[in-house]
Amino acid sequence: MPIRIEDSVATPPIELLHRFEGCLLGLACGDAVGGPAEFHRRGRFPEITGMGGGGKFQLAPGEWTDDTAMALCLAESLLACGGMDPLDQMQRYWRWANEGHHSTRATAFGLGKTVANSLMRFHRTGNPLAGSSAPDTAGNGCLMRLAPVAMYFWNDRQAAIEAAELSARTTHGADECLASCRCLADILVTCFAGATDKEQILSGIATLALPDGLGRITAQVFRDAPREQIRATGYVVDCLEAALWCFWHSGSYAEAVLLAANLGDDADTTAAVCGQIAGAYYGRQGIPDDWAGVLYKRDLIAGMARGLLASTPESPALGTSASAGCRDNSAERSGYGVPA
Ligand SMILES: [Mg+2]
Repeated sequence: MPIRIEDSVATPPIELLHRFEGCLLGLACGDAVGGPAEFHRRGRFPEITGMGGGGKFQLAPGEWTDDTAMALCLAESLLACGGMDPLDQMQRYWRWANEGHHSTRATAFGLGKTVANSLMRFHRTGNPLAGSSAPDTAGNGCLMRLAPVAMYFWNDRQAAIEAAELSARTTHGADECLASCRCLADILVTCFAGATDKEQILSGIATLALPDGLGRITAQVFRDAPREQIRATGYVVDCLEAALWCFWHSGSYAEAVLLAANLGDDADTTAAVCGQIAGAYYGRQGIPDDWAGVLYKRDLIAGMARGLLASTPESPALGTSASAGCRDNSAERSGYGVPA
């Protein structure tokens, strides 16, 4: 039985399951729509109007990049381990980087420098909390994949926020990364709790003790900022602000994601982060059929969203509340190679 959130505002109630599917499919669709604009300066590429394909990686329509691949590794780990297990998460990221696990292709592509360095550090030391805390490593690679964590802990805001921070630490240990992930987790769980207006969704930001580096987020500058002020770079705070700007200044999932994609630069990740929020807010039905219809591994992604909902701690469906050790729910591997 799907769980129904009883919304009291004018917007029709959206089933929690549809918010979950919207969030994870929304991440992947955002990644795929924004992918062709990645690495292009704003205004220096043909306007993105839908799921077009192309770009540096010569993406097929519906094909996504590292953002979604890492999110699927994280979702799979939460499901296999019955909760947060950083070691298992890093092992799955390693398999993605080395063997193409959950990639759309035989090999991984789009692997960022910060993630690559953290995987090498993990390989060397065995410590899964391998993210550097150096300020110049505050990339958005921890934010782009976050959705499954917020989904798994959707009914416990504090647990979601803490788990979000822990999930960042595997590859991104800088303060701005940890704080940005706390912030996004708060926004997503507010959506999952049935919020129907954007003021309500953003209200939690004010209650989070965010560091100075997130001053523009705390002050919610994005509400009134002109497009020229929004920087869709790989810096985690820029990325979060850009995603929030797109969400705030749009009226549908598609409109939000297209705004994000057309910012250029780190367009796939801006759109993937915006897609998580807009997908959780507008629900699965907000994603255009012709986008979802061509999305790579659509059934796997929707299935993981359903699995995360069924696996929520204290959920009557399963009643799991603690890790019972990981089971590898994909092919067993004997070891891990060296990242490409
Ligand atoms: Mg990418």
